[in-house]
Amino acid sequence: MSETRAPAIDITLLDGAGDARSNTQTPPASVASDAGRTNIFDFDRARLERFFEEELGEKKFRAQQVMKWIHHRYATDFASMTDLGKALRAKLEARAVVHAPQVIYEKTSADDTQKWLLGMDAKNAIETVYIPDKGRGTLCVSSQVGCALNCGFCSTATQGFNRNLTTAEIIGQVWVAARALGNVPHQQRKLTNVVMMGMGEPLANFDNVVRAMSIMRDDNGYGLANKRVTLSTAGLVPMIDRLAQESDVSLAVSLHAPFDELRTQLMPINKKYPLAELLDACVRYALRKKGESVTFEYTLMAGVNDQPEHARALIGLLRDFDRRVQMKGAAKINLIPFNPFPGAGFARPSDEAIRSFQKLLNNAGMIAPVRRTRGDDIDAACGQLKGQVMDRTRRSAEHRKRLQAAGAH
Ligand code: SF4
Repeated sequence: MSETRAPAIDITLLDGAGDARSNTQTPPASVASDAGRTNIFDFDRARLERFFEEELGEKKFRAQQVMKWIHHRYATDFASMTDLGKALRAKLEARAVVHAPQVIYEKTSADDTQKWLLGMDAKNAIETVYIPDKGRGTLCVSSQVGCALNCGFCSTATQGFNRNLTTAEIIGQVWVAARALGNVPHQQRKLTNVVMMGMGEPLANFDNVVRAMSIMRDDNGYGLANKRVTLSTAGLVPMIDRLAQESDVSLAVSLHAPFDELRTQLMPINKKYPLAELLDACVRYALRKKGESVTFEYTLMAGVNDQPEHARALIGLLRDFDRRVQMKGAAKINLIPFNPFPGAGFARPSDEAIRSFQKLLNNAGMIAPVRRTRGDDIDAACGQLKGQVMDRTRRSAEHRKRLQAAGAH
């Protein structure tokens, strides 16, 4: 497979999936110079209305018109927005741009999963993945360039961390994918769900993520129902409480272990916010969003967290959660077989071990779907996203050292 790179970016690409289909795309015209002008992608409806009223001296309904041009018709050129008067179009041209992330390449997996590598600046790129399934299409969106939380089983963590993505860079991922898919909000929906489960910890980039999720749910944006936008967190407890107050999206929590000691080994954030505190915050979230469940993600790693004692402890935690929320099934569990990446140091359990683990949960009356691995031939499966990160934490160098010490290559 050959990959032609877009010209205006100097990132050295490492990725290369042998048998996947790949496409290149011309970067949108909007990546042209935007010096000093406001990027409209940074605004949700409330902020765009303020921009029209306070900075352009225009009526605020213009915000809705412009949003529809951008998110429903994928226009990036104000001149094409023909229901705006000429004078307003000229004013917008002078003050604003519609600047989408640059598509470096797009790959399609044998199972039709699609992945985009998107350039965010000259040194950093992130990955966005679309997973089509019966009657639905889910986009997995990144929130940061790299990640600082350093979970031991995560490919993104080995890249280190550089910076938060802006609102424009987050919603820009949705725009790029929706445009490529031919998605028409409210009519021809190719994009039915968004999960903030790509690179990064979304709650560590709270304001930008919440603003972008507001555009996803706005009728003038992508028109997705609240429950079809899911934020997945490793467990930043105070921010879960803030999310409960400020947004109505679905919550997913990366649990991965039912014991503090093991969870701290796998996810260092557990030291700061141990299981009891995390589950308290999840209970508060579920109680505030009456009738809504919380999804707990559990990545199964061979010999690490896939034993009967782990299943039994997990059942105890989930039952306790249901009891406190006073709703059977308030806690949902997703089992995710570990998706290996080079130098991971963890292995996927056998199919038999996965089934045994699932059966223990089923026997306790729990629905525990095993997530089907999608897009692994293009490194787009859960936990495999890595992008290109100018690492400010030097975590990738530390990871290499650890691997060398362990005798890995
Ligand atoms: S699993 Fe999520 S929170 Fe943990 S390092 Fe990876 S991206 Fe960050």
